[in-house]
Amino acid sequence: MEPVHIIGAGLAGSEAAWQIARAGVPAVLHEMRPAVATFAHKTGDCAEMVCSNSFRSDDDRMNAVGQLHWEMRAAGGLIMAMADRHRLPAGGALAVDREAFSAGVTSALRDEPLVRIVPGEITELPAEGNWIVATGPLTSDALAAAIRAGTGTASLAFFDAIAPIVHADTIDMSVAWEQSRYDKGETEAERRAYINCPMTRPQYEAFIDALLAADKTEFREGEAASAPDPTPYFDGCLPIEVMAERGRETLRHGPMKPVGLTNAHKPGEKPYAVVQLRRDNALGTLYNIVGFQTKMKYGAQTAVFRMIPGLENAGFARLGGIHRNSFLNSPTLLDERMRLRARPNLRFAGQVTGVEGYVESAAMGLLAGRMAAAQAKGADLAPPPFTTAMGALVNHITGGAEARTFQPMNVNFGLFPPLEDSRGGRKGRKDRYPAYTQRAKDDFSTWLAAQ
Ligand SMILES: Cc1cc2nc3c(=O)[nH]c(=O)nc-3n(C[C@H](O)[C@H](O)[C@H](O)COP(=O)(O)OP(=O)(O)OC[C@H]3O[C@@H](n4cnc5c(N)ncnc54)[C@H](O)[C@@H]3O)c2cc1C
Repeated sequence: MEPVHIIGAGLAGSEAAWQIARAGVPAVLHEMRPAVATFAHKTGDCAEMVCSNSFRSDDDRMNAVGQLHWEMRAAGGLIMAMADRHRLPAGGALAVDREAFSAGVTSALRDEPLVRIVPGEITELPAEGNWIVATGPLTSDALAAAIRAGTGTASLAFFDAIAPIVHADTIDMSVAWEQSRYDKGETEAERRAYINCPMTRPQYEAFIDALLAADKTEFREGEAASAPDPTPYFDGCLPIEVMAERGRETLRHGPMKPVGLTNAHKPGEKPYAVVQLRRDNALGTLYNIVGFQTKMKYGAQTAVFRMIPGLENAGFARLGGIHRNSFLNSPTLLDERMRLRARPNLRFAGQVTGVEGYVESAAMGLLAGRMAAAQAKGADLAPPPFTTAMGALVNHITGGAEARTFQPMNVNFGLFPPLEDSRGGRKGRKDRYPAYTQRAKDDFSTWLAAQ
């Protein structure tokens, strides 16, 4: 049988190789380390954890990433098996001994007769065969250039510039209102596409003071070096605090400009500044704060963003950030089987598809591996339903997310289709989250059983 080739033995590629071999299909795993280094990896081992040693919450009842753990364990995932074997005490989180974990993944793959690990960098996109590209946030420069050449330069980003994303049901709509600037749009939905939060002058001044005073993170050594442009900030992607440093009024003339908007609750009162939120997924459960990419530390972000009228009780699906991160514009480029539409012999998996985090990347490797193995056997495997954590995530990157503003995403309940008859808002979470995870377990089990 023709093997499946995988580029990159990281979290995603290692899991993909394991799943392919378990399905009885040979896998060839190409890894450039240690001959070619990245600024973050330190070893030549498979599935190296480059920063924290945590797979985050292991609570599969109340937490979306915990639910994703559950699904990966149910599917016989290698990453979860090794994480469980090398677990360290960490309260409700799944933390591991990183060296023992990576060594365990490496030897499991070396001992697996159907997996062959081949050292070396792949520098071109292969024209034929059944391939998975799982080269991660630090895809080598040569391959990144080949991906850009093969898919269009705008389709592979080198930095994420993430604006915070808010759960829609935590926005106070007695303060905020829906309206597009100048009521632009053909349909009523388009004319109400944005959620607007008004600020008075004192509120704006206090907000700028807080932004300027907030703790910020720095780029790591080497992080900005191999990007195509030495300045990591692209046009339109300046962090808000950098804009504020350029002048106290800069934001009011940029993302916070108050023009073309009328406060639906106080039509006679002109806001001094307006923060806009734009729908971030087809379900309408998530909204990003427009133009608010930031390098503020997470604790500072929560405090500063909750100063915005209407967001006092905001729940964040993810906070903002700017990092070195190669990722595709997957909603436009990938089909729902994670294949490049223009070149279906290439499947993408892991963080390069626009998911974020060890667990999410490994989960996408698991799925891509199973799909590629099915294809090698002449079959077809559909993704799990999007009521599951894995299905919600793959649905988001391959179609659910807004392509124009696509930025990497962690798994979270905002990606799940809402439940009928459930209470919204933060108070409803106690009932809603267990209902989401129970539905996910039932549907994932059905999907697995059908294979
Ligand atoms: C500095 C930094 C800190 C991070 N911190 C965290 C964190 O604390 N927690 C978290 O959950 N996530 C973190 N991440 C994200 C994390 O890297 C990913 O979630 C995860 O490693 C992605 O898995 P992956 O398999 O997609 O990529 P990786 O694990 O990076 O694996 C990709 C593999 O492909 C190889 N490769 C690249 N190009 C080629 C090529 N051309 N030919 C052959 N091999 C190639 C690389 O050497 C690497 O082994 C961090 C990322 C960075 C850059």
